[in-house]
Amino acid sequence: MKPFPRAEISARALKKNLSRMRQIAPKSKIMAVVKANGYGHGLLNVARCFSEADGFGLARLEEALALRDGGVKAKLVLLEGFFRQADLMTLVEHDIDTVIHNEVQLTMLEKSSLVKPITVWLKLDSGMHRLGFTPEQFTQVYDRLERCPQVAKPIHIMSHFACADEPDNPMTVQQLRVFDGLTKKVAGERTLANSAGSLYWPESQFDWVRPGIALYGVSPVVGDLGCNHGLEPAMELISQLIAVREHKAGEPVGYGCFWHAKEDTKLGVVAIGYGDGYPRNAPEGTPVWINGRRVPVIGRVSMDMLTVDLGKMATDCIGDDAILWGKKLPVEDVAQHIGTIAYELVTKLTPRVTVCLNE
Ligand SMILES: *Cc1c(COP(=O)(O)O)cnc(C)c1O
Repeated sequence: MKPFPRAEISARALKKNLSRMRQIAPKSKIMAVVKANGYGHGLLNVARCFSEADGFGLARLEEALALRDGGVKAKLVLLEGFFRQADLMTLVEHDIDTVIHNEVQLTMLEKSSLVKPITVWLKLDSGMHRLGFTPEQFTQVYDRLERCPQVAKPIHIMSHFACADEPDNPMTVQQLRVFDGLTKKVAGERTLANSAGSLYWPESQFDWVRPGIALYGVSPVVGDLGCNHGLEPAMELISQLIAVREHKAGEPVGYGCFWHAKEDTKLGVVAIGYGDGYPRNAPEGTPVWINGRRVPVIGRVSMDMLTVDLGKMATDCIGDDAILWGKKLPVEDVAQHIGTIAYELVTKLTPRVTVCLNE
């Protein structure tokens, strides 16, 4: 018996997406971003499927340690760096690279004594103004790292795009210019592009690309789909119909009773809700895929269930699959209905959803 709800992850799609990214960025190494539990796909699952990647990008030390515990030997990079002095020892012990983006990290590094130097990615703020040293600070910080015996040479450089998911936004060209201008002569490797950069701005690919969402088969751009770039969605979120009910015109359904049927119909109850990570604010009309067609969510999503309008002539039965998103129903589409981005939908699934890896 397969559990439900479950997120079925296609190993084949993950591997295919990695090779597709190689075609898209043929001159660059790939730092596969697997933070947030591999974007909800299962950290170790995806790391194993991405065994051909040149390295992995993570947001938390715990994520990197989980990969090492799972036997992953590849290059690991903490994209926000370390947060405490004591973490530096752990980075050395487990051979994990760190980003350095602020003065506090830099001072901690300078004041530490380490048995081995660590590999550092200096983060430049090229315009996003979230993390990183300003262009004015850049040369001075670079020189301090050069002089720091705790830092392995050469020093690598990174920055991050603010608007690369908007193909017409001039901000991206501006960031590219700042980044390239300041870092042209450095000895180390350079990285700027996330998924959107890699797909839409080939000149941003440099030595390494850092795709996350694209590797899971999803487009970073609202209104676009992964399949338009030869990518295949790796996750299918599946639950089941646990009730099919005759419903009379004018009758309400669910908490708040605010939806009323316009005509006699059949309603389906699907075993998934906000307790599984399906958003409570999904409005009427958000699509669910049942028996080869889209049916609309109606009424309020509750903790363990949601209701759909199957239509008067429906022949659906209790136990039939209900697909919340996947190959047949792109998560990008569902996200647009809900007013969020696909990133949030896939990463927010709760532990009640069983993640199963299929070949
Ligand atoms: C999350 C993240 C990425 C990957 O972003 P996608 O849009 O998922 O490709 C790349 N770089 C950094 C610094 C990140 O934090």
